[in-house]
Amino acid sequence: MSGSSFYNAPEVVKKTRKAHVCAYCGKTIPKGTPYIIKESGLWMGDFWKRYSCRDCQPYISEFWGWQGCESESLESDFDEFMRENHYEEWVTDDDD
Ligand SMILES: [Zn+2]
Repeated sequence: MSGSSFYNAPEVVKKTRKAHVCAYCGKTIPKGTPYIIKESGLWMGDFWKRYSCRDCQPYISEFWGWQGCESESLESDFDEFMRENHYEEWVTDDDD
């Protein structure tokens, strides 16, 4: 295969060595957070990777099923998905 795209199986980062931004909700994942899922791959010749915070992890596979494996704007699509499917879990602590 040439010029191909691939998707690596998600890895678990046992402890993040630096801060990352969650690709799904946009929150910062502080340095030293345990068990963060990292996804990575190659898309049209570009390497990419993304991290997801603990809050988002349980919903990611469901999200991609709902979304159809493609997203132009991950954060807003994820927010829409959560509001439609997990409203109570998602919109509880909006007082910050
Ligand atoms: Zn998140």
